[in-house]
Amino acid sequence: MADRSSSLPDLPILQFEEKIAETVEKNPVVVIIGETGSGKSTQLSQILHRRGYTKSGIVGVTQPRRVAAVSVARRVAQELGVKLGEEVGYAIRFEDRTSERTRIKYLTDGVLLRESLSNPEFNEYSVIILDEAHERSLNTDILLGLMKRLVKIRSSNLRILITSATLDGNKVSKFFSDCPVLNVPGKLYPVEIVYSRERPTSYLESSLRTALKIHVQEPEGDVLIFMTGQDDIDKLVSKLEDEVRSLEEGSCMDAIVLPLHGSLPPESQVRVFTPPPPNCRRFIVATNIAETSLTVDGVVYVIDSGYVKQRGYNPSTGMYSLDVVQVSKVQADQRAGRAGRTRPGKCYRLYPSIVYQDELPDVTVPEIQRSSLAGSVLYLKSLDLSDIDILRFDFLDSPSHDSLEDALKQLYLIDAIDEDGSITSIGRTMAELPLEPSLSRTLMEANEYGCLPQALTIAAVLSAETSLLPGRSKGTEKKRRHGPDLPDGSGLGDHIQLLQIYEEWDRNDYDIGWCKENNLQVRGMLFVKDVRKQLCQIMQKTVKGTLDVRTSKSRKERRDDYRNLRKALCAGYANQLAERMTLHNGYRTIGFKSQLVQVHPSSVLGTDEQGMYPDFVVYHELVTTSRPFMRNVSAVDMK
Ligand code: ADP
Repeated sequence: MADRSSSLPDLPILQFEEKIAETVEKNPVVVIIGETGSGKSTQLSQILHRRGYTKSGIVGVTQPRRVAAVSVARRVAQELGVKLGEEVGYAIRFEDRTSERTRIKYLTDGVLLRESLSNPEFNEYSVIILDEAHERSLNTDILLGLMKRLVKIRSSNLRILITSATLDGNKVSKFFSDCPVLNVPGKLYPVEIVYSRERPTSYLESSLRTALKIHVQEPEGDVLIFMTGQDDIDKLVSKLEDEVRSLEEGSCMDAIVLPLHGSLPPESQVRVFTPPPPNCRRFIVATNIAETSLTVDGVVYVIDSGYVKQRGYNPSTGMYSLDVVQVSKVQADQRAGRAGRTRPGKCYRLYPSIVYQDELPDVTVPEIQRSSLAGSVLYLKSLDLSDIDILRFDFLDSPSHDSLEDALKQLYLIDAIDEDGSITSIGRTMAELPLEPSLSRTLMEANEYGCLPQALTIAAVLSAETSLLPGRSKGTEKKRRHGPDLPDGSGLGDHIQLLQIYEEWDRNDYDIGWCKENNLQVRGMLFVKDVRKQLCQIMQKTVKGTLDVRTSKSRKERRDDYRNLRKALCAGYANQLAERMTLHNGYRTIGFKSQLVQVHPSSVLGTDEQGMYPDFVVYHELVTTSRPFMRNVSAVDMK
């Protein structure tokens, strides 16, 4: 790789190159604290490359978010003048763009964890940078624990860097036996905070009004608006576009409105990094991805609703929730900081200052304290760390005893561990699959029943983190219940319906036009197809014996498959069964967490009045919105 350091951008971290190199040279673990945008994600790997660390191994940089891994790798490849996927590459779940030649590798923290299953000492790496540690993602926290062990084993030839925008450096330093902490002072200009007098009734409307006021009254500079999710982003983008268009006719400055969130196609993500034409104001409407993960240049104004969408898990009920919650003070400060990178800026907080002072929590609860830990515990068990008792694993912040117990119980129910808590051979195979334990177990069971091809499709759909059916609007839910036209069998439940959609597409030769005609998301469908192919390959490698991975079968065979498939689901989701309660118009969950729940309105099973409710069901997950709902539900075959 050519050294093009002379053409590198002028970022604060580059002034510390010498100091960083010196400290890394002398210490196996170094913590680097630097303001968002100081160049940690894009420059550290290049500094280490210039200092020769790519000669003895790969410089790996983990990112908690897929989008960040892809976007930063693309940027670094561009700065070094190499083709993405060659010397500089990235690996995220189900997408690997690296080659034999890759020396700088960006990867999600989950992918690095998975790599350790085949290479527990990370021997191909000369440096591992755990980037964005302040996000405190579950996987980064587990990696921190593993790195602490690894330092002892590889201190002579592995360097570990932990970077963060906000993290309490001393806490991490203490965790790593008082390792050095380098502070990279960023040049942050003052940001004036403007509070609302009261909380608005609609954040969307209030954000819209504030954005327009800025556009009309304030000098040039881009506006970054934090919303909680894609739906709100889409709505605000469309309203803002309409409004600024009518203002432009009245000779206001030009404007471009851009969405920014994790499920945007890559071409659209690139647009936020492309400088706008002169005299044009950009409005970037983003999720908290723009808080610290992606730095958008040119922002002078920030609009902060004070909210964020956060996934939670309650181990005593087994219930997930996706709640809109207040940001922490640290997050609010990060958001405001985005306005001061290039010159003094302004942050409009759509809440009163008393809310900031008295209501916002100081810090965000780390993901490890609000997640289901079954997958992580299975992973740790499969590493065979003889010196480690899961309940005493050295975490930066420990999860609750309840959630570890919950994970152990779940794993026991699906035969991944035995009475003594030791991993079983089934558990070992499950750990090798890049899926949540319940889905891995379903696949293994399906293989026994001869319906693996169908189970692979379901696993691909459920784990692709993308939806086949557009959005979640009322119209969409209706469409989901009614079609595309599928062979009979939808009454069996959502899993079978999702499978049938895919099988119909298969029969239509994976035709894109067919997806469009049936209102299915083309990108989602193609992604599922790709994920399915990869899962097939992984299963072929992992599970011994020959696998039948065809999809097309006769009608009779299909019906048998559907029955077997639901049996396989019951093995994987043994703790996620429910029994119909006619009196309550819903279900009661069976097992050690009995409670009343409803079928999610998006389910193909419809409502009880339609008489489609089976006596027993298996569900993919329990989510709490207004009430507890089972999402992705299928009938249990009692025969
Ligand atoms: P940090 O990790 O300290 O937050 P980064 O290294 O991510 O900082 O960002 C440094 C600079 O690189 C910023 O100006 C940012 O806008 C720019 N940058 C980062 N990713 C990209 C990209 N994909 N395309 C263009 N510019 C980028």
